[in-house]
Amino acid sequence: MRKQIVAGNWKMNNDLAETQELLSHIKMQLVKEPEAEVMVAPSFTNLYSTFEALKDTPIKVAAQNMHQSKSGAFTGEISASMLKSIGVTTVILGHSERRAHFHETNEILAEKVNTAIENDMEVIFCFGEELQDRKSEKHFEVVEKQLKESLYQISEGAWSKIILAYEPVWAIGTGETASPEQAQEMHAFIRKNIAENFSEEIAENVSILYGGSVKPNNAKEIFAKKDVDGGLIGGASLKATDFIALVNSF
Ligand code: 13P
Repeated sequence: MRKQIVAGNWKMNNDLAETQELLSHIKMQLVKEPEAEVMVAPSFTNLYSTFEALKDTPIKVAAQNMHQSKSGAFTGEISASMLKSIGVTTVILGHSERRAHFHETNEILAEKVNTAIENDMEVIFCFGEELQDRKSEKHFEVVEKQLKESLYQISEGAWSKIILAYEPVWAIGTGETASPEQAQEMHAFIRKNIAENFSEEIAENVSILYGGSVKPNNAKEIFAKKDVDGGLIGGASLKATDFIALVNSF
């Protein structure tokens, strides 16, 4: 059985005090052992305090990004070993906002994925088409290219460290979600593609999350789809009640 996961991507939100407050509300409201694996991804400045605050809980902490190099003259960047030294072993890579605003190409992302795997880190690999791709019915092609150019270079053994997050760009922060059917259709396509390029077993075992305007009022229907194994949540993860409702949406 593959893992069901709800991960909150807090993006560039919440200072130290706000982060601590949100964490204490999440901890208070997480009254029962969650069925899904739960993760939160705060900003870099709040990673360590979040890791410390969640030590006694089942909630995991992820970073939102990481540099591909081991160390060196890369002002402003964060390495895999820096993350690991504070206990963070999961990293989000390939988010569409990093691709769009920080020019992260498929090639750079392949390097980042390789670095994460070499460092034995878990990767939440994000990808997804833009609105014009979907309108011109190129969405499958675009997604396949993103996977092939950034992820399919990994070894079969490395797949146990990969979580996929399909996030159609047109659904991120727009209030417009992909319909449960559109999500299922794409997730089934991805699983088939992995089976063709690797193996049935790998395809069956990899968790594929959906991201893009997931809210408590639409999550159940989306998460119920056969090939959707949970969500990567932006806006709704910033409110403890909404986030916990999502965690309990299976
Ligand atoms: P929203 O849930 O705010 O649409 O953001 C999704 C997202 O980008 C998660 O990484």
